[in-house]
Amino acid sequence: MIIDFRSDTVTKPTPPMLEAMIKAKVGDDVFGEDPSINELETLAANMFGMESALFCPSGTMTNQIAIKCHTQPGDEVICDESAHVYQYEGGGIAFNSGASVKLLHGDRGRITAEQVKEAINPDDPHRAHTSLVCLENTSNRGGGSCYDFSEIKKIKSVCAENKLPLHLDGARLWNAMVAKNEIPKQYGETFDSISICLSKSLGCPVGSLLLGKKDLIKKARRVRKVFGGGMRQAGFLAAAGIYALQNNIERLNEDHAHAKQIAETIALKDFVKFILPVETNIIIFELKNSISAPALVAKLKEHGILGYAIAPDRVRLVVHLDITLEMTTKTIEIFSSL
Ligand SMILES: *Cc1c(COP(=O)(O)O)cnc(C)c1O
Repeated sequence: MIIDFRSDTVTKPTPPMLEAMIKAKVGDDVFGEDPSINELETLAANMFGMESALFCPSGTMTNQIAIKCHTQPGDEVICDESAHVYQYEGGGIAFNSGASVKLLHGDRGRITAEQVKEAINPDDPHRAHTSLVCLENTSNRGGGSCYDFSEIKKIKSVCAENKLPLHLDGARLWNAMVAKNEIPKQYGETFDSISICLSKSLGCPVGSLLLGKKDLIKKARRVRKVFGGGMRQAGFLAAAGIYALQNNIERLNEDHAHAKQIAETIALKDFVKFILPVETNIIIFELKNSISAPALVAKLKEHGILGYAIAPDRVRLVVHLDITLEMTTKTIEIFSSL
């Protein structure tokens, strides 16, 4: 048995999801004629109480399209130093939008309203024009940490006072909302654009959505075409998304419970220096000098457990839809024996 904790992107569609995909009605989405994509976009926009949505191949694309829509070349984007938009999108902010970035030192990926306020450049020709703030919830490198919604509200106020749009990288927003008992509409009311992934914890093979006002999404549709993301009969993928939004959100609690159980065992190991608080489905722990992260990952692999060395001394495990209770129990046994 291989137990794959490398990422929550490794899930495979379940039989009922596949059935929904096979039965999907499709058309040419570049012509706006794919009924399944139109249904998914409407469903997601309504969930968040936002005007419009756009289905895209990846979360990188939805983030990059949003940044492109909100900025002009030479502008500056504010985000945490660990943000996916900065760390893991191939330098896309510079490449696609010609914008620079101001990195903030947040707490496990979360920045504060005070930090944002201080990071906004004055209206001075020497300085780059600050034109966007990006938050990430949950934070990937922060170990699945969740924002307190009250801080998001404060950040929103700072943005409003300075006429700055606020974008949310919500690749794992579902996990945050389930963990914190929040609802999509509170996010829809607060952010100018939201990127959500269907291909992470919700178990879809492909797909992300960008949400926003009608005008923004109209512009985003043009940028998606420019970026090469206009797909044709992609309704088969959208059908998986519809199925996931209707069936796979509540169950995220199980993933969070499994992650906490596994983390309790890991925290006790003498080769572990510390473990980040487990708030959702991500476990990140730092090792003492006795073993490196790649060495531990190799050792785990011998036992059929796949993890990821995110730094020379840090290992990440991500729990997801395809991790069963049996696998969780087995993982705990293996860690106990190490
Ligand atoms: C995975 C992820 C994305 C998007 O990744 P894709 O693989 O391009 O879909 C964006 N932001 C965060 C925080 C992520 O973890």
